[in-house]
Parts: sequence; C-alpha cells; structure tokens
Amino acid sequence: MKVLVIGPGGREHALVRSLLADPAVTEVHAAPGNAGIAQVVPTHSINANDPAEVTELARKLDVDLVVVGPEAPLAAGVADAVREAGIPVFGPSKAAAQLEASKAFAKQVMAEAGVPTAMARVATTVEEAADALDAFGAPYVVKDDGLAAGKGVVVTEDRDAALAHAQACFDAGGSVVIEEFLDGPEVSLFVVSDGQTVIPLSPAQDFKRIFDNDEGPNTGGMGAYTPLDWAPEGLVDEVVQRIAQPTVDEMAKRGTPFVGVLYCGLALTSRGTRVIEFNVRFGDPETQAVLARLKTPLGGILLAAAKEQLADVQELRWSQESAVAVVLASENYPDKPRTGDRIRGLKKAGAIEGVHVLHAGTRVDDEGNVVSAGGRVLAVVALGEDLQEAREHAYEGIGLIRLDGGQYRKDIAAKAARGEIRVPERAGKA
Ligand code: AMP
Repeated sequence: MKVLVIGPGGREHALVRSLLADPAVTEVHAAPGNAGIAQVVPTHSINANDPAEVTELARKLDVDLVVVGPEAPLAAGVADAVREAGIPVFGPSKAAAQLEASKAFAKQVMAEAGVPTAMARVATTVEEAADALDAFGAPYVVKDDGLAAGKGVVVTEDRDAALAHAQACFDAGGSVVIEEFLDGPEVSLFVVSDGQTVIPLSPAQDFKRIFDNDEGPNTGGMGAYTPLDWAPEGLVDEVVQRIAQPTVDEMAKRGTPFVGVLYCGLALTSRGTRVIEFNVRFGDPETQAVLARLKTPLGGILLAAAKEQLADVQELRWSQESAVAVVLASENYPDKPRTGDRIRGLKKAGAIEGVHVLHAGTRVDDEGNVVSAGGRVLAVVALGEDLQEAREHAYEGIGLIRLDGGQYRKDIAAKAARGEIRVPERAGKA
C-alpha cells in the first residue's frame, strides 16, 4: 500500500512514523511535511490546502490512500476532491468537516443527535454577547465561531475580558458562541469512523495552556499522555454509544457521512460527560502519544475507514506501556513565535531507549541545519512502564535538546502520575 500524508506538523510526523511501521505499507509520501518527516520519507512542496494540487499529486504518485492531517485542507474540500478522483481518502468531506469548522453547526448536530454538551448561545452583537454572558454567569466561555487552531477560546472570570474577546471576533467579521462553563477534567477521545461503524482509540489528555499549572494563554497544545488510569470504568464505551455513534449516525442521516477521526473533546463534569468540542481530525499532540502505544498496524485501519470497511477491523491492540509527549515551543509562542533558531541535540534525545522525537515547525536552512520554523517546534515522545517512567524518559530527552528561547512545560502528566486527578462522582455518565 502506498500512502500520501497531507500536513506539516507533529501529528503528521507521528502518522508517517506509524505508517512506516505497518508491514502492509510499502511507500509513504508527505506534503508538505517538515524537516523531520523529510528525513524518513519523500516530501512534496505543494499547497496542501488546495484540493486540485493534492489530487494531482496523489494521482501522480499513484497512491492507494491519502491521509489528511490538519483541519484547514479538510475545510477547504481536499478530501472531497481526492475522493471524487476515485482515490481512497481518510478525512471527512468539506460538509462533514463543518463539525469543527463551525461551532454553531456542531451544536446543531449535537442537539439533533441528543449528544450532551454545554448549553450555548450564538451572538453577533455586543448586546447579545453581554446578555448571554449574564445568563450563564462566571466563569465566562467565549468562542470564536470559526477555525482558530484551538486559540479562539477565552475562558475567564473577567466579564470585560470576555466581552473584549467577543468584540475582537465581531471586528474580524465573525460571530461567537457563548457557553456555560464545564467543570471537571478533560479527556480527548479519537474515534475512527467510516461513515457508519466507529472504533475508539485509547483516550488521552492534553495540555492547552502555555505555562505549568494551566496558566497563561491557550495554545495548540503543549503536551499529552495516554492511557488515563484515572478515567471512570466504561468511559470509552459510554462515549462511543452516547456521543460518537449518534453523531456519526446524524451525519449519515444528513447525507454527509463522516469518514475520518471524530475527535471528541470531553469534560467529565459533576453533571456527567459533556462534549466541549468536536474536531474532525487527529489531535496534536495527543496523536503523538496515542500512536506510540498502538500495536495494530495503522495503515490497515485508515484504509478500511476510507473504504467503508471498518466493520471488518478487529479490536485494536495496545501496548501496556504509558506514553507521554512533551512539546518544545519557540520563544514568544503563542503570541509571536520567534523562528529560524538552530535546534541541537535531536539525535542524542532520540537515542534514549523508548524515546523518539517528532518534528512540527522545523525546516532545514541553507547550511543544512535543522532550525525552528513555527510556534510548536517538536515533541519528545516517550514510553515507560507507567506514566512516571514515561515522564522521566520524555524529560530526559527534551533536556538534551537545545533551542534558544525554547520553552516547554515541566508538568505534563505530572498530576496523573501522582494520582492527583479528581473525577466528579457523576462523571463518566453521558
Ligand atoms: P475548544 O477550542 O472548544 O476546544 O476550547 C479550548 C479549550 O477551552 C478547551 O480545551 C477547554 O479547556 C476550554 N473550554 C472550552 N469550552 C469550555 C467550557 N464550556 N467550559 C470550560 N472550559 C472550556
């Protein structure tokens, strides 16, 4: 099987790595990829958000499967174009990608499918926003109703700051979704779907804020770990039955079947499990941790989903080990990340037993050095017998990498490793 992976980030590096480990996969290509991906497979510098360019490349390479990593090409209709050309593609159509591209659309689908989520109101004016804020009370949750790479959400006790974010979204020509605040720990569950059948992956937790103890602004994600020893028993089944399957069924009923990963961002609240958001693709950096534990060959799963044959796939096999991914970000991320700095120590870090380095925002400069090229630069992924051991390996690895101004959180998976995550009593019930 020949596979083309679309996207430039750490998630795509993780996908490429797992695909290369699949005995049925003979060849992997990536577009555009990054410096780390280019070390292991051929990369192609195309505009990955352009449906015609991706289709042309897939045809030229004569691939058996295209895997679309990020949300932007999905929202731009890349999967539709590839599918129309008769090439199996893992990733939802533009219509189905609305589950992520529009939070208001996702809310409608959830309401129709009876999926539990935060109560919400859409606002298009400051007056409407103020009304909604007062209706739900503090802490205030204000979301840009569009794709914002995980950075369009403000959660604050400060009503003025909440209103200011709404105003900024209106100024940019958008609308906002204002929600009730969801208490309780968050879980990311990826569910693979072929439009009908769904198969869950192992649940993970990610860390959205830039600083330790969940302080500072939201980012694309600063780290992740899996599995979640503290999660209530039966959580995954519950989410499949009451959230993922009804959503996939609703999308099929609408004539826009969902093929790809439905990423269920969940809060385990004192009133039961609630959807915080859906994404329509693998999460970054959860994927880096989750795929490190997956033993079932990845290519077969993704091809089966693309061909509507997921019902034939056996239950997935997982390593007994725990996985931790720690992201190294550049100086001033997420504000104005500084790029172009040399990265050292990559080989040393990757040489540690159970550790691998996945590139995100990297490129090779004119002198052949790997330099930073984005906000999130790379992730160090480590396996260990338990979370504590995986953490130790990951931090040993990232400690060997040198990047001027580089920053990473020191507390990824720390609370979980110490058994300090408190789950409200009703949590785990949808
Ligand atoms: P989203 O882009 O919707 O995933 O939101 C980004 C982050 O904001 C989430 O991972 C949560 O940490 C936080 N968040 C979003 N919605 C809520 C909510 N209703 N209550 C509490 N926190 C939220």
